Amino acid sequence: MHPHTTDLPRPAGTAAPVLSGRGLAKRYGDQHALAGVDIDVRAGDAVAIVGPSGSGKTTLLHVLAGIVRADAGAIHLGGTRIDQLGETRRSELRRTEFGFVFQSGMLVAELTAEENAALPLLLGGASRRAALTAAREWLDRLGLRGKERRRPGELSGGEAQRVAIARSLAHRPKVIFADEPTGALDSRTGRDTMGALLAAAAETGAAVLVVTHDRELADSVPSRVAIRDGRIDTVGAAA
Ligand code: ADP
Ligand code: MG
Repeated sequence: MHPHTTDLPRPAGTAAPVLSGRGLAKRYGDQHALAGVDIDVRAGDAVAIVGPSGSGKTTLLHVLAGIVRADAGAIHLGGTRIDQLGETRRSELRRTEFGFVFQSGMLVAELTAEENAALPLLLGGASRRAALTAAREWLDRLGLRGKERRRPGELSGGEAQRVAIARSLAHRPKVIFADEPTGALDSRTGRDTMGALLAAAAETGAAVLVVTHDRELADSVPSRVAIRDGRIDTVGAAA
């Protein structure tokens, strides 16, 4: 084996993870937000990240996505090490290989639903026409037909999250990071929204890493990682 290889050793018979972190650590002052986390996400898998408030869930997503630099550890995307890339390359990766869904939409208030959903494609250089066509297709599949021209202020919380889901998927990323995407929704809308996210991601084959506080919602996600005080507590399949 070449000494500079970036391949990670893995047990025979298991699919290569699309995204993996090893020994991830991040400190804020003397607060250990991440204290040595190993995580593997396989293509097409959905993983719920659960844990108490302040346990490091958001930090883990931000480190894996290259929004925040870890103090230690390594991150591989499809076998290529990405944590040491410069800011320009990392922001390009975020735009092309990753999709994001936040707790409350983070949609651009001045843009319509279809323009919001089309944003990553437009930023990636797609023509306006192609980007809007793809965005409308996803809005349609997510149950928003007829609402493509509404602005975020004219959508319910659940509808806005579906626009955010469309935006996270329209450029066909390898991994979707969702940080409490149902946190601002009532429980029924939250269930529907989580279902929509998992189904839409499964259609594209994207892996999903989703932080949730809600036990029942976490149980609806195929895999689970529990985190406590910046460390992995348990790893397992949904109950
Ligand atoms: P969670 O998402 O599980 O609630 P976070 O990852 O946001 O937890 O935070 C983990 C710990 O790191 C917390 O103690 C939090 O206060 C701290 N922390 C997170 N981000 C910052 C920051 N930008 N500056 C200082 N401390 C931070
Ligand atoms: Mg958080």
